[in-house]
Amino acid sequence: MEKKIAVFPGSFDPITKGHESIIHRCLPLFDEIIIGIGYNSNKHYFFSQDRREHFINKTFEGESRIKVMRYSGLTVNFCKEIGAQFIIRGLRTSADYEFERAIAQMNRALVPEIDTVFVVADPSLSHISSTIVRDILLYQGDVSQFVPAAVQL
Ligand code: ADP
Repeated sequence: MEKKIAVFPGSFDPITKGHESIIHRCLPLFDEIIIGIGYNSNKHYFFSQDRREHFINKTFEGESRIKVMRYSGLTVNFCKEIGAQFIIRGLRTSADYEFERAIAQMNRALVPEIDTVFVVADPSLSHISSTIVRDILLYQGDVSQFVPAAVQL
């Protein structure tokens, strides 16, 4: 049978315990999960690509079915390039759902072979966002309860 490969795309600036949980919960569903660090030239990042990649690699050290890759351009094109049939997205709120629904439907219109799988956030982690983590870091706050231990300033 064909290997089931899923891409979990995002900025991961930085990876949080919310992302980590979604990835762990998806492991039983797929043979391989590629964490795709997307590059958007219009975005300003807090951590460099190298640091973001390093934090993720360290977080999933020893888990051979999880890989990290960088990509630019459309997520569906990246999926086609690497032979992934699924895109994973996490849902925290109804706002996430509305936003993600349109993207998933448009992606499916572009490439019908690729499906988006939504995983609803664990209630104990649904308040966590990379954006707020960055705001706290900017003012030297302690983010250790929100991010994996590998994330260090
Ligand atoms: P993007 O830049 O695409 O928003 P993020 O790195 O912020 O990327 O998020 C990547 C994915 O992780 C998105 O599907 C987002 O909804 C999901 N996600 C982020 N934080 C959480 C969380 N606390 N719980 C569950 N899913 C989350």
